[in-house]
Amino acid sequence: MKKFVVFGNPIAHSLSPEIHRMFGESTGIALQYTRCQVDIGGFERAASAFFADPQAVGCNITVPFKQDAFDFAEQVDDAARLAGAVNTLKKENNSILGFNTDGIGLVNDLTSHRLPLRHCRIILLGAGGAARGVIHPLLNAGVSHIAIINRTAATAEKLVKEVGDQRVSVAQPAEAAMGEANIIINSTSASLTQELPQGLLQINMEKTQAVYDMVYHSEPTAFMHYAARQGVPVQVDGLGMLVEQAAAAFTIWTASQPDTTPVKRYLREQISQRQSR
Ligand code: NDP
Repeated sequence: MKKFVVFGNPIAHSLSPEIHRMFGESTGIALQYTRCQVDIGGFERAASAFFADPQAVGCNITVPFKQDAFDFAEQVDDAARLAGAVNTLKKENNSILGFNTDGIGLVNDLTSHRLPLRHCRIILLGAGGAARGVIHPLLNAGVSHIAIINRTAATAEKLVKEVGDQRVSVAQPAEAAMGEANIIINSTSASLTQELPQGLLQINMEKTQAVYDMVYHSEPTAFMHYAARQGVPVQVDGLGMLVEQAAAAFTIWTASQPDTTPVKRYLREQISQRQSR
């Protein structure tokens, strides 16, 4: 039996065990996937204890331990390096490898909504850990430009400098007003409290085909409602990204690609039922 766990604090709300149970069933891989709440400062100990089990294959890491997981990993991929954060660990030949699958999760979810990324111009709202994790995968998917807008401008400037790629810049107010962005991605946590992210009202959405909010609720977020009122034809929330980042982790661990469509449908039903209860 392959063993997996998700570490976080809090962790009771995590949908990961449910998602990976469904992936295991659909691919025929027998697995055990549990939740583990870790005390602050206790990540290294918990992860070491988990990986000491010969059946342990890998783990997911959520808030607030993604940086601890980065430090714990012996080698990391590019997305994790830029993010300084790891959401997936794998034991391989007694070495611990770290990955950040958020970006590939976003790219795969956008693709599943038939939103082509090649030559696409993107405005990315936010410059936190989630934004950092998605920049390399978006560039690898062929986007032509990513303009970052962040409430704290200095954080966006620091991130652009670290990326060091001419396709990534801090959005100037005039640029945002020009309405050239094909897709606008909200990676801020503003939607958690149904606020509109700062800087949004200055963006001209005339040519925008879609908006993507990394946050998901049972109902569309305030950001998605706002974009719909501006005439943006497609609004997508982050539930699909959650499932796709999990699928990318599953593939890293098992080399098997699970079908994500039924899982997305099932979780959508679950969260709307939770709301109506
Ligand atoms: P961080 O705390 O690292 O960054 C938060 C970002 O949001 C910062 O850029 C911050 O700006 C900005 N922000 C917060 N409030 C506002 C506001 N009212 N207006 C404008 N900007 C605001 O968080 P993460 O980057 O790790 O996560 C961001 C969101 O993405 C979370 O809500 C998380 O749930 C979601 N997420 C979803 C995933 C999925 O699979 N669907 C995966 C990963 C994340 P400032 O720098 O000024 O503080």
